[in-house]
Amino acid sequence: MLESAARPRLDWSNTLWIVAVHAVAVLGFFTFSWGAFLLAMGIWWVTGGWGITLGFHRLLTHQSFSAPRWVARALAVCGSLAVQGGPVIWVATHRMHHAHSDRELDPHDSGKGFWWAHIGWIFYRDQKRASFDNCKNYAKDLVADPFMIFLDRHYIHLQIALGLLLLLAGGWSFLIWGIFVRLVVGWHSTWLVNSASHMYGYQTYDSRDESRNCWWVALITFGEGWHNNHHTFPRSARHGLRWWELDTSYVVLRALAAFGLARDLRVTEHLRHPRKIAA
Ligand SMILES: [Zn+2]
Ligand SMILES: [Zn+2]
Repeated sequence: MLESAARPRLDWSNTLWIVAVHAVAVLGFFTFSWGAFLLAMGIWWVTGGWGITLGFHRLLTHQSFSAPRWVARALAVCGSLAVQGGPVIWVATHRMHHAHSDRELDPHDSGKGFWWAHIGWIFYRDQKRASFDNCKNYAKDLVADPFMIFLDRHYIHLQIALGLLLLLAGGWSFLIWGIFVRLVVGWHSTWLVNSASHMYGYQTYDSRDESRNCWWVALITFGEGWHNNHHTFPRSARHGLRWWELDTSYVVLRALAAFGLARDLRVTEHLRHPRKIAA
C-alpha cells in the first residue's frame, strides 16, 4: 500500500484553483437574479444531491443499493460535475476515511482540527494518497471501469462545457451563479460533513470514531449530516434513522426505486446493531 503519514506539502495548483473559484464567486453579489439563483440551487441539487450523495457516496463507495448501469453512470456524471474530483479518486479517498476514521491515515483526520478536516487537507493533499496506485488499492472496482477513469480524467472539461452552455443560455449571471457560486456552496456543504459532522452533534451509536449526527449539516447536504449513523452502518442506504432525522436523498432513492431505477436498498443493518451510546 502506498499510504503515507509523511508531512504533506502545500499543493499549489489545488490551492490556487480553489482560491480562484472563491474569488470569482464574489462577483455573484453583482450579478444576482432570481433566475440565476434558482438555477444554481437546481444544479447544486443535481450535482451534490444526486451526483455526490447518491452516486459517488451511497452507490459507488458503499454499494448501499444497486442500479441499472446507465443510471449508475448518469449519477457518476452528475457527481463529476460537482468538481470534487472524478469518481475513482473520490471513492478511494472516502474509503480511506472510513478505514482510518479520525486517525493518522484518515485523509481529513478531524483530530488535526476543524480547518484541516474542512479544507486544509485539500490544500496540503498528500500526493501519494491521491496517486493512481493508491486509488487502485482502495477503488479496484472503479479502476476496472474505463467510463469511471474517463470521468476522472475529464471532469474539468465537462465543467467547462457546462459553463459555456450556461453562458450561452443566460449570460454572465448564469455562468457566475451556475458554476462559481454553486461550486463554493457545494464544496463547503460537502466539506462540513468532514469537519462539523466529526465535531458537533450527538452520537446515537458507538461508532468508535468522532462522527456525529449534526442536524444542520444534514439539512444542507441532502441527509449526509447524519454521520454517526452512517459511520456505524456505512452500507445502509438510509442515513437518517430516527423518524425526525430528515434524509432527503433517501426519499429520492425511494422514488427512484418506485420507478425501477434503483433496487436492493440496504436499510436494515441498524436493526442488528444494538450498541448504542448510553443516555
Ligand atoms: Zn466521516
Ligand atoms: Zn461514507
